[in-house]
Amino acid sequence: MDYGAKLDAEIEARRDDLIALTQDLIRIPTLNPPGDCYLEICEYLRDRLAAKGFDVQLVRAEGAIGDSDKYPRWNVVARREGAHSGECVHFNSHTDVVEVGRDWTYDPFGGELDDGKIYGRGACDMKGGLATSIIAAEVFVDLFSEFSGAVEISGTADEESGGYGGVAYLAEKGFFAPERVQHVIIPEPLNKDRICLGHRGVWWAELETFGEIAHGSMPFLGDCAVRHMGAVVHEMEQSLFPALAEKRTDMPVVPEGAKQSTLNINSIHGGMEEPEADYTGYPSACVPDSCRMVLDRRFLIEEDIKDVQAEIQSVLDKVKAERDTFRYDLREMHRVLPTMTEKDAPVVTTVAEAIQDIIGAPAEYVVSPGTYDQKHIDRIGKLKNCIAYGPGILDLAHKPDEYIGVEDMVDSAKVMARSLVKILLGHDEITVGEPKI
Ligand SMILES: [Zn+2]
Repeated sequence: MDYGAKLDAEIEARRDDLIALTQDLIRIPTLNPPGDCYLEICEYLRDRLAAKGFDVQLVRAEGAIGDSDKYPRWNVVARREGAHSGECVHFNSHTDVVEVGRDWTYDPFGGELDDGKIYGRGACDMKGGLATSIIAAEVFVDLFSEFSGAVEISGTADEESGGYGGVAYLAEKGFFAPERVQHVIIPEPLNKDRICLGHRGVWWAELETFGEIAHGSMPFLGDCAVRHMGAVVHEMEQSLFPALAEKRTDMPVVPEGAKQSTLNINSIHGGMEEPEADYTGYPSACVPDSCRMVLDRRFLIEEDIKDVQAEIQSVLDKVKAERDTFRYDLREMHRVLPTMTEKDAPVVTTVAEAIQDIIGAPAEYVVSPGTYDQKHIDRIGKLKNCIAYGPGILDLAHKPDEYIGVEDMVDSAKVMARSLVKILLGHDEITVGEPKI
């Protein structure tokens, strides 16, 4: 039997294990925020992988954003060395899930299997992907214990809130250093036939306009900060939004609408604070002296961050030219540069070949409209040979009745296991004996 058929048969044989593992992971409610049950899920993964011969470390991101004694940010990194030295393939999954929200018909933490789908918060984003990579790695090390190099699996905190207590922390501590890890696959739910090469950039900023408080019956004695902000929004509608719609990228971003530059006005708050829910009185009559807007700008690999900032500055300059008392403060909150792995990078070509083998069609290359933990692996870890590849339908992420299809997980596990063979055994012409399990 050739190695591919052997791998596929072994993965099929572990279908029940894959289902049970996914269900177990869903049943640990790792909600973020606030960051519940990170230690519990890391200990679960440690026990499982240590029993398979992995060296396992639990790493708390002490001092990172979000870490506290009440909600410690725990991460798990498991490494299995081969019989000979060589390269390391690392599968990184985040263990956190977003809030449940309304309109569920399944128990969000029940992990119910119904008609070939496993339901629950995080089923698709991304505990199904985590379970898939574990089964692929376990089958690989069981069948090919003589392999060269190493296989690593990590379960990391806080991806849904920026990844600072997770992958960013591990990257700062050298876990993604080039001498330690050479290939990274992040099993986010991008569909089993797609390779995600990277993501657009992000620039978040807070703009505050200032006015002067006065009695609301005599607004001419004050200066309304909300009207100033209105002028900013108007100028954005006139010049900025049309200009952004003109900027197109060569990055294969999905969905189609995200192939251009985008700007979301995340929030605007002007004037006095919203009253408490139990307050029954009316507001007092005041001219607002402050108005704040949060901007969420997503930009393309063809754009420079300096130009992104200059465009907003130009809007403010135009408003200033027309309004004598216009005063403002612009503050950057957060930035992530766009990243895209080259199509001829080794991890890309390997997974593409494996997709062709298993799915029987060429891989589709995509770029994510939003960011994920690849940003930290690229910027802090300096590792470019990184992709997102995993089972599941991206559109289901964060929605009610989120699920992962068992068949998709099985197919993806086959792709991942073949990728391990291609990288860590170096060629396709391997025959294997009986698994040493
Ligand atoms: Zn995710």
